[in-house]
Amino acid sequence: LAMSFMRIVSQRLRDFNQHHLREVVQAERLAVVGQFARSIVHDLKNPLNIISLTADMYARPEATPSVRASAQGRIQKQVERINDLVADLLQFTQAGQRCVRLPVNYAAFVEQLEAELRPELEFKSVLLQLAGPVPVVTMDLDAKRLRRVFLNLAANATEAMHSDGVLTLRFHQEEHELITEIADNGPGIAPEMAGKLFQPFATHGKAHGTGLGLSICKKIIEDHGGRIWAANGPQGGAVFSFALPLAG
Ligand code: ADP
Repeated sequence: LAMSFMRIVSQRLRDFNQHHLREVVQAERLAVVGQFARSIVHDLKNPLNIISLTADMYARPEATPSVRASAQGRIQKQVERINDLVADLLQFTQAGQRCVRLPVNYAAFVEQLEAELRPELEFKSVLLQLAGPVPVVTMDLDAKRLRRVFLNLAANATEAMHSDGVLTLRFHQEEHELITEIADNGPGIAPEMAGKLFQPFATHGKAHGTGLGLSICKKIIEDHGGRIWAANGPQGGAVFSFALPLAG
């Protein structure tokens, strides 16, 4: 009798657990959606407020042409900010759905990216340097999406480095994969981010952080069959690395 009683109790516990688990999963999902919505609303509010105020300023009859010109510039900048945010959100929700990989010469790809990034980084007092030549290898890449990985990592590094920033690209070719390292000389990754760096919405120390950038990078790299990780360098600063499989 004691045995069957125990069996009944444990069966009930299992049923309860399963039911409870489903509820927890559902609640978790809703919490994620809520968090998602909150972060979007939060990030949209600020630029929209600025646009609204600046539009008022523009429309004033006493506004001089120079006031109008600067108002227009400000509105444009905020529209760009919203565009970037929307692009991030789209990347985040679409990542993994369509990955169009074609054979690409990695050296040519990186050199083109470097040419695109360098002036933008210089404008923010960040020096971009290559620690060595980019390996001339062919890889199956979705160049457009992989470009996003570089842009996100460079943007994070630039935000982390306050002055005299140096961004270093390093490459190691192994037997079956190529490792790309992006190192900065900022303060390094905060201990608060340990274990959740690549999780969506995990952000620390930023006024306008969405916490999506690195999770997008992770998805894109994993869609390429690769891995991404990060560490702080021996001399401080953060080092983000990703491995991509070589073609063939
Ligand atoms: P966001 O930049 O919107 O916060 P990310 O997913 O791109 O979202 O980054 C998550 C967090 O990781 C950042 O808020 C920051 O605390 C940390 N981080 C990312 N890159 C660096 C870096 N190069 N140096 C120091 N911390 C970084």
